[in-house]
Amino acid sequence: MEKFRRLIFSTNKHNRYSITPLVGAILSKFHDIEILEIKNLSEITQYPVTDTAVAFSFMTFDVENVAEEVKFLKEKGYTVIAGGPHVTAMPEDMLKMGFDYVFIGDGEENILEFLDGERPENRIFDGISKRVNLNDFPPICEKKRLFMPIEITRGCPFDCGYCQTPRLAGKIVRHRSIEQIVEYEKISVRYKKNVARFITPNAFGYGSKNGVTPKPEIVDELLFKVKSVGVKEIYFGTFPSDVRPESVTDEMVKVVKKYVDHDYVVLGAQSGSDRILQILRRGHNVEKIEEALEILAQNGFYAKVDFIFGFPFETKEDVEITFKFIEKIVQKYNAKIHAHTFMPLPGTPLSNVGPGVLKQYHYKFLGQLASQGILDGYWLKQEELAKKAFRGIQNTRMFASNS
Ligand code: SF4
Repeated sequence: MEKFRRLIFSTNKHNRYSITPLVGAILSKFHDIEILEIKNLSEITQYPVTDTAVAFSFMTFDVENVAEEVKFLKEKGYTVIAGGPHVTAMPEDMLKMGFDYVFIGDGEENILEFLDGERPENRIFDGISKRVNLNDFPPICEKKRLFMPIEITRGCPFDCGYCQTPRLAGKIVRHRSIEQIVEYEKISVRYKKNVARFITPNAFGYGSKNGVTPKPEIVDELLFKVKSVGVKEIYFGTFPSDVRPESVTDEMVKVVKKYVDHDYVVLGAQSGSDRILQILRRGHNVEKIEEALEILAQNGFYAKVDFIFGFPFETKEDVEITFKFIEKIVQKYNAKIHAHTFMPLPGTPLSNVGPGVLKQYHYKFLGQLASQGILDGYWLKQEELAKKAFRGIQNTRMFASNS
C-alpha cells in the first residue's frame, strides 16, 4: 500500500487547534515523514505529487472554496484527505466531492494508520467507534515548537441542537490526566510559554465522570500542580473553553479563584427564554443561569455570557424575554454578553432549520450594548457565515450528486 514521505496540512485561521495535536501525534511516532503546514495552493504544488498527501480540516462555511481546491489538487494528481466536524457529519458526500480518504471523529490514531499504509475498504477512517485515550497522544508538538492551549477533556454528554462537539468528539467524557497536563505545561514553560489555557467543553467539569458534576478537589490539584511548574498565568473557564451553569458551585468557584489571573468566567447560556432553551436541548433553564451568575458574583467574578440570536424558530416574544434577561443580568451581576448568530451545522439536530436571521430589533438592541462596551462577538459576521454554512450543507450534497 502506498506510503507517503510528506504530509501537507492545508491551514487557515480556523484549523490551527485541530492540526497541532495531529502533528504532535505523527512526530511522536514517525521520524522520516516531513510535515508541512501551508496556506497557499501554489506553494503546495511545489512539492512532488508522488509521495505527498494533502490534508484538509475545514468549517462548513468554507465548503465552496475547499471543493475548488480539492478539484485543483486532484487534477494535479495529489492524494487528498480530510477530517473535522463537517467531514464527520457528511463523510460519504465528502468522498464523492473528491477526497481520497476521510477521517471521522478522533483523528490521532487513524492518521498514524494512514501513514503506516493502512487503507479501509470504504475509504472512511473511523475515529467514532474507535475513540482514542487522550493520554496516548501529546496535545502540543515540541519538535516543531507548536504550542496551544492543552486539551484537558474531549467529549460532551449534552446534546445541544446547534453543536457539533458531541458528534465529533463523542458523548463519553475523556479527561487527560493531571500528570500529563503538568508534564506538557512544564515543556511549554521551557519555551517561555508561561500562560496556561485549556481546551474543554466544560472547564468546571474537569475530572468528573459525567463531565458536569464539579470535582473541586481534582481541579484544585490540577491548578496547584500547573502553577508549581512555573506557569505565570492561569486561565480556567475562559476562552477557548467555557463553563456550563450547572457546574458553577460555590466550592468550585472558590478553588478556581485561588489560582487564576482573570476576574471573569465564560458562561454558556445561549438564551433567556426557557422555551428556546428547551428547543435547543440545553438541559438547563434560565433559573440555573442566574444561580450560576449569583455564585460567581459572590466570589468576585463577573461572567461573559454566551447568547445565540436569530434562530429561525424564535418568536419576537422569545427575543424580548431574552433581551429583558440580558438587561437584568447586566445590571444585577455586571455581566458582559458574548453574542453569536445561529449557524446551522451538518450533523446537528438543527442543521435543517435554515440560517440564523437577525431582525431590526436584534441590530438595535445588540448594537446599543456593543456601543456601551457591554457586548462583543462576531454576531454580524456570523450572519453572513450562517448563510454560507447553510449553502455549504446544500452544496456538499450537490457536489456529491454531480460527481
Ligand atoms: S454546546 Fe457545550 S454543552 Fe452543549 S453539546 Fe456543545 S459542548 Fe456540549
